[in-house]
Amino acid sequence: MHQGIMKAWLESSHLNGANSTYVEEMYEAYQEDPESVSADWRAVFDNLPPVNGASSDVPEAAHSKIRDYFRSLATEGRHKGAARVSDPEVDAKQVKVLQLINAYRFRGHQNANLDPLELWKRDKVAELDPAFHGLTAEDMQREFNTGSFDHGGETMKLADLLNSLKATYCGSIGAEYMHITDTEEKRWIQHRLEPTLGKASYDQKVKHRILEGLNAAEGMEKYLGAKFPGAKRFSLEGGDTLVPMLREIIYRAGDAGTKEIVIGMAHRGRLNVLVNILGKRPAELFDEFAGKHHDNLGSGDVKYHQGFSSDFETPGGNVHLALAFNPSHLEIVNPVVMGSVRARQDRRGCTDGLQVMPITIHGDSAITGQGIVQETFNMSQTRAYKVGGSIRIVVNNQVGFTTSNHQDVRSTEYSTDIAKMVQAPIFHVNADDPEAVAFIAQLAVDFRNTFKRDILIDLVCYRRHGHNEADEPSATQPLMYSKIKKHPTTRKIYADNLINQQSISAEEVTAMVNDYRDALDKGDCVVKEWRPMTLHTVDWTPYLNREWDEVYDATVPLEHLKELASKISDVPEGFKLQSRVEKIYSDRKSMAAGEKLLDWGAAETLAYATILELRKRVRISGQDSGRGTFFHRHSVLHNQNDGTTYLPLRNVADKQGPFDINDSVLSEASVLAFEYGYATAEPEGLGIWEAQFGDFANCAQVVIDQFLSSGEQKWGRLCGLTMLLPHGYEGQGPEHSSARLERFLQLCANHNMQVCVPSTPAQVYHMLRRQVVRPMRRPLVVMSPKSLLRHPLAVSSLEELAEGTFQNVIAEVDSLDPTKVDRVVFCSGKVYYELLERRRKENIDNVAIIRIEQLYPFPHEELAKVLADYQHVKDFVWCQEEPQNQGAWYCSQHHFWTAIPKGAQLSYAGREASAAPACGYPELHTHQQESLIISALNLK
Ligand code: AMP
Repeated sequence: MHQGIMKAWLESSHLNGANSTYVEEMYEAYQEDPESVSADWRAVFDNLPPVNGASSDVPEAAHSKIRDYFRSLATEGRHKGAARVSDPEVDAKQVKVLQLINAYRFRGHQNANLDPLELWKRDKVAELDPAFHGLTAEDMQREFNTGSFDHGGETMKLADLLNSLKATYCGSIGAEYMHITDTEEKRWIQHRLEPTLGKASYDQKVKHRILEGLNAAEGMEKYLGAKFPGAKRFSLEGGDTLVPMLREIIYRAGDAGTKEIVIGMAHRGRLNVLVNILGKRPAELFDEFAGKHHDNLGSGDVKYHQGFSSDFETPGGNVHLALAFNPSHLEIVNPVVMGSVRARQDRRGCTDGLQVMPITIHGDSAITGQGIVQETFNMSQTRAYKVGGSIRIVVNNQVGFTTSNHQDVRSTEYSTDIAKMVQAPIFHVNADDPEAVAFIAQLAVDFRNTFKRDILIDLVCYRRHGHNEADEPSATQPLMYSKIKKHPTTRKIYADNLINQQSISAEEVTAMVNDYRDALDKGDCVVKEWRPMTLHTVDWTPYLNREWDEVYDATVPLEHLKELASKISDVPEGFKLQSRVEKIYSDRKSMAAGEKLLDWGAAETLAYATILELRKRVRISGQDSGRGTFFHRHSVLHNQNDGTTYLPLRNVADKQGPFDINDSVLSEASVLAFEYGYATAEPEGLGIWEAQFGDFANCAQVVIDQFLSSGEQKWGRLCGLTMLLPHGYEGQGPEHSSARLERFLQLCANHNMQVCVPSTPAQVYHMLRRQVVRPMRRPLVVMSPKSLLRHPLAVSSLEELAEGTFQNVIAEVDSLDPTKVDRVVFCSGKVYYELLERRRKENIDNVAIIRIEQLYPFPHEELAKVLADYQHVKDFVWCQEEPQNQGAWYCSQHHFWTAIPKGAQLSYAGREASAAPACGYPELHTHQQESLIISALNLK
């Protein structure tokens, strides 16, 4: 490598202490894998000039070529007027110029003009000053090679280069992308930013479109403010540019062939987006402000949580828009949106993400404050959850409710730093420069579609009013709000600009304002691109107004079941199973042949096979779903010889539904939210989220409370998701015993969901099939077993699968004489087998045991039938393993009381109330378990 260059490298801050052989070796290593060298070295190598005029898109030149290139520069001086690189001092300067370019690419955003209020106090970045690199005023007029800087010719005067760098990287756009390791992605971004110096040049049509967007955004808020003074609307004002920005994104997406966009956002600016993007009729919104109630909905929700759907016409084609319903819990809607997008992509057979795109809109405090955001980034490239990238917009109004001091809100420079974990590019944009925003919006769509990865736009704006309209922000942000009071609106700034450019007249601007206000007065849709929905690909009407006890036919003939069972126990020739798995599969063969009764795993797997045969999708997601936490499922088989996998359930029939079984990322909240989103966008098939242990669902409590249990009531959105929550007291301690049944039961009302505790393989088979075959789509919460997976009594015959349906109540199974019975024990789940075994052992014939397999909706009619034989009994007991304050006792007691004969008593047999779900000492557990069995069976 040329000595002059080398010397300069060695002397520069990046290269201290290096030697030439070392550098050469390093360069070779870089060529093999850029990640193998440190970031500093990578930056230097990334900026080596292209060889022989090769464009920056050409892969890195070989080391020898780079060396030859430097040699040729030294001997020939390639460009007239170029600095003579044979001069070691000039060579050193050339490297420093490359470092200056690099500094702007890395850190220009820190001195960019991002804050419309100009309140940000940012330190000067020393590296952006040529003097820092030893470049002098004299050098300013000298020509240097511009390396990979994608503007002008191969050489430029340093003064011009500096201006170009400043324009590109320190204007209204702060580009953060040099943390990306993929050179192609970085070059792509440079290629988009640098040739135009980060500026779009829009024609009149686009400029007017942007102004119309701003006009609508501002007009809407002003109108609402005047018509409903003091009413909460979480105004967008200050962040008005969001509206033209979304429009540009939709236009661009339409051009690229996008068919559907799902948008997730919190309350700020939502009414504006609903009316000005989605095309919700203002009259409808005004009705909501007036507090009118729609009888066809359940309990409803406030207007700034409502979703909406419409089609939007773009020159490239219509795009279906769906704004997801959301609760107040800010960021939680993001994984829901991703799930909804993935469902739509799967339905369309779209594997590259191009047809369906998510847009998520975040607040600056929430995106960095809430861990669910990190979870969604982590999911964004995984097989089961990727959606081809999300466009994430931060409406950065610099204040979260009343907290704006960065020292209180976050520990990072920007709220968007979290995105660096997936190397997403981040563009901070001054919202008062709407053309820059539009430019970045278009870039974002193209980047996402090209690289199928997340991209962030940090829309730096402000909040003109308080957190809501009843709030007084100057109490806590006096300086900011005195500035805001004097600050002109973005619409005004932009309109004045266009008037100055003579792109529009002042009269036309005034007419635009008046026309928009008149349109609101009329109350009709104000989005001219709005079209009635034709593009969404699913019809929910067959699932509307259905009930859980609707009669359905789900029988599968015995012979066919046998065939299926045999097929899914087959493994390809030469596929070597692990010995324990082999035993399970050979047992399944015997079960298929009718030689053995089916265990849990076999029956559950058979249920999936029958659903797949109906050409419906089965999607199972959970931390260990492929194998099953307790080694019972083995839906994904691993060849012990070569590690390849085989999924018998993908080989059920020539034409079958897709079988997706996913070992999930180690998260509950985002995965459950994703699956909720998936299930609310896909009524066909079976969607399951499985917890490793039931109580891990605690981590997803927001999803359970805010979406699963109440989404239909609040928003009329159906969801047929099944949750499998391992539950049962087996002495494993407080954290592995309870799925917190009581919490689910407490959430039950209006037949919002089903809570089941199946106790046999036939029951799990019928329960899963019922969830698909019956047209009702409501969440199914299952207390699923652990030890029952292998309990010798928890087995079923193929006949039991072939005949019958899910039994919500299971009557006494032994042939007791009902007239002798003087006590009836109700129970659910595993404790049943303990009661049964003990009763048999003790030869008790006066205690009947009845299983309640569905605790909600409570099966009154079926229980009444079962109790017909016991109308003389006065002594009824509810037996549970859980402590008294937990389990079903308090939440379901009123149902038991209704079911038992008049005058009869109901008592409790179970653990004493406890703050912890279970004890930690096995000995104590055994003692407690024994006591509750004794108490239930009335043993002395
Ligand atoms: P979307 O594709 O989400 O925009 O939905 C289009 C239309 O389908 C909506 O306007 C609803 O009428 C209906 N729809 C979508 N999802 C659901 C759901 N989960 N439950 C009931 N209806 C739905």
